[in-house]
Amino acid sequence: MRVLGEEREQAVLAPYACFSQDSRGRVYHENLDETRTCFQRDRDRLIHSKFFRRLAHKTQVFIALESDHYRSRLTHSLEVAQISRQLCRMLRLNEDLAEGIALAHDLGHTPFGHAGEDTLDALMQDFGGFEHNWQSLRVVDTLEQKYPQFDGLNLSFELRAGIAMKTPLSAQIGDLEGAGNLEASAVNMADQISYNNHDLDDGLSSGILDIRVLKEAVTLWREADKVVQASYTALDEGDRKYLINSYLISSQIRDVSETSKAKLDSLSLASIDDVYALSDSPITFSKNMSEMASELRSFLKEHLYLHPGIRAKNQEGQRIIEDLFGAYMDRPELLPEAYRERFLARGVTMERMICDYIAGMTDWYAGRAV
Ligand code: MG
Repeated sequence: MRVLGEEREQAVLAPYACFSQDSRGRVYHENLDETRTCFQRDRDRLIHSKFFRRLAHKTQVFIALESDHYRSRLTHSLEVAQISRQLCRMLRLNEDLAEGIALAHDLGHTPFGHAGEDTLDALMQDFGGFEHNWQSLRVVDTLEQKYPQFDGLNLSFELRAGIAMKTPLSAQIGDLEGAGNLEASAVNMADQISYNNHDLDDGLSSGILDIRVLKEAVTLWREADKVVQASYTALDEGDRKYLINSYLISSQIRDVSETSKAKLDSLSLASIDDVYALSDSPITFSKNMSEMASELRSFLKEHLYLHPGIRAKNQEGQRIIEDLFGAYMDRPELLPEAYRERFLARGVTMERMICDYIAGMTDWYAGRAV
């Protein structure tokens, strides 16, 4: 079965894709699985991890428990995985690898969204700081505890490099330096497509964004509305928004795929080594789409992320994290004993141990622990 999967890759994928057969392997040696390629096995390990399940109760932009319909980090990660797979299918890249990177890309996020991340980074200023990509890698390399033979999930090199890619095509951490792959670049674009559109959707559902203001300020929305109206003349504005959202996602996927295909054709990359030699990723929006997407980002920033209601919630999250950090520093015995012993045995500093513990919390757990 595994061999069949590997043969299918050889038949379908472009020469610049990551082939599971050519993987640089895992840090701790394991025999190959009989039924799955190495990237399929990585993906399955991620889905069955505790950190993955916790994403259900971590905030994306809104406090997750406020409505059943707002995105959490879990639904966001699933949307990113879906868009990544589609992009990779169109570009003949490895879908299984991209799916794994997408499911793992937000594992290192703290409770309370970016406000949580900024607060932990400030608290850790003198002890190495905090950054969510770096933390996602730490989760899969060290923090998830499941196997007796090793800490973490012992994922394949290419998947770890994909998680470490902070900016397109530059995996910047240790042995992963310079090993960014195009599958991770596709995930990066899928991430942007996903959050731009679902933040619009959640923003409208919450009543914070006004559809008339949006229409006036955002070219992408206005143009999508015209297309939808032409096909559905009888639908009112409120009902059109679902179709507009769906059109926005498909048109951005189409734009990335067409732009990237043309760039990849002109580069004639013969193998993954040619990808490693690139300084810029060819997986991008067109210039026009990139301008429209940044117009949308500015609109979201001004009208949604900086909205007083959202800011108040962010400040509350920030206060909870500061209180927790202070309390654990004063009384480390509040941390579970087995957790403390495991970290201290590995020579981890007290600050990092506390930072890892808080970063791993869900919004719900942090609110209860404080
Ligand atoms: Mg994301």
